[in-house]
Amino acid sequence: MVTSIKIGEVRSIPGKSVHGTYKVAERAASTIDLPISIIQGRKPGPTLVIIAGEHGCEYSGIVAAVKLARDLRASELSGTVIIVPLANPVAFDARYLFVNPIDQVNPYGAYPGEPGATVTFQIAHKILNDIALKGDAVVHLHGADYNEALVPFNYVPMTGRKEVDEESSRLASCFPVLYHLDALPASKSTSVPPVGTTYAVTADGTLYWEVASRGIPATMVESGKEGKLEEETIMIHYDGLINVMKHMGILAGKAEYQRGVRILKNPVLVANRSAGLFIPKVGYGESVNKGQLLGEIWNFKGKVLERILSPIDGMVVCRINFVAADSYPTQTQPYLFYITQVE
Ligand SMILES: [Zn+2]
Repeated sequence: MVTSIKIGEVRSIPGKSVHGTYKVAERAASTIDLPISIIQGRKPGPTLVIIAGEHGCEYSGIVAAVKLARDLRASELSGTVIIVPLANPVAFDARYLFVNPIDQVNPYGAYPGEPGATVTFQIAHKILNDIALKGDAVVHLHGADYNEALVPFNYVPMTGRKEVDEESSRLASCFPVLYHLDALPASKSTSVPPVGTTYAVTADGTLYWEVASRGIPATMVESGKEGKLEEETIMIHYDGLINVMKHMGILAGKAEYQRGVRILKNPVLVANRSAGLFIPKVGYGESVNKGQLLGEIWNFKGKVLERILSPIDGMVVCRINFVAADSYPTQTQPYLFYITQVE
C-alpha cells in the first residue's frame, strides 16, 4: 500500500511524477513559492527528501536536482522522492549571495525556523516541518556561492545517536567525494575558540542538524565552484543521489560506496579586520601550517594593511574569490578562508 504525500496543494500520485509549487510565505504584494516535485513509485518504500538552492547562486546543486526531477521514472521506484530544487527563489532571481535579500538572513543557519519571525525563518520552518520531516532520509545540496570555490565534501551530523550518525555517514559515502566533515553543534565543537576574526563552523541552525537531531539521517553535499556549471561538480550531486536511492532501496541496483574517505575536523572560518583588496596567497585544496600566511589585505597604494595567518595546521577547504574585502565578517563576506584539520 503506497501512502499519498501532500505538501500544500501538491499531492503525490503512485506511478507518476507530480511537479508543482508550494507557498512558503506571503508578502504584501506577492507570495514566495518553492518549486517542488514528488515522484512516487507504485511499490511502497522509503521517502527521500532532497533540498537544494538555499543559496541562490549555488547552481550545481540546483541543476542536479532539476535534472533528477526530470529524469526519474516513477514506474522504476519503490517509495517516494521529494525534490525542492530551489529553497531560496528570491536570492536566485536577484542573483544574491548567501542571504535572502528581503531580510538579509542566511537560510543556512535559520533552522528550525519560526513562523512569527522574518521571511527566511518562516520559510525554514515550512521546509523543515512540512517537507524535510516527511523523509526517512534528507540530503541537502550546497555548492559554493558565486564568490566561493571549494574541495567537494559532505557534512555528516554527529548527534551522538549511534544508529542515526552511522546512517548519515553511509548516506554521505554514497557521494563520490573524498572528504567527510564531522559536523557538531557549538556546545560540542572542539574547533579553536573564536580569536579575533577566526571563528568555528558549527552545525547549529542547519537543516541537516535539525533533521538528524530528530532521528532522521541526513547529509549535506558541498560541490560547486563560483556559480559555474561544470559537469563534474553537477554529477557529484546527481550520481550521489542515484546512489542514495539505491542504498535506500528506492531504486533497484547496488549502491557503490566511496572508499578511502578522509575525515575533516575542527572547521574554522578565517576572516579579516581591514577593508581593502583581498590578495590570497593560498588556494583551496592546499595544505597549510599554523601561522602560515594565507593572504593579505592591501589599500589602494598597494600597502599591506593586514596579514591573514592560518590559526591551525590543516587544509583550505574553501576560499572566497572576491578581491573587494569587507572589514570584519559580514553576511555577504562571512569569511575569507575555510580551513579544517584532516585526519
Ligand atoms: Zn551554500
